[in-house]
Amino acid sequence: MSRQTEYQRRKIEAGLCEICGKAREEGQARRCKACAERYRQGKRDRRGSEPWQPGNRGRPPKGREPEALARKIEVMLSKLEGMEKGRRR
Ligand SMILES: [Zn+2]
Repeated sequence: MSRQTEYQRRKIEAGLCEICGKAREEGQARRCKACAERYRQGKRDRRGSEPWQPGNRGRPPKGREPEALARKIEVMLSKLEGMEKGRRR
């Protein structure tokens, strides 16, 4: 195990952020909210992906936006309805 991995493991076990060492909030597995958001943004930049939009591919943001999930379900249902209509012809 590398020294970096050891350091990160120690921080995670102590309930701290593996990057900056500040306390993690409930529901944050490895990083504090600020570090997690920075990590995600960096990943989006590297991959060139856009934030999730209802009607696009991919799952809605996890659990935190019930409205977004409801909108996604609405879009899926309207698509299904369209398919049903297409079949009846
Ligand atoms: Zn942090």
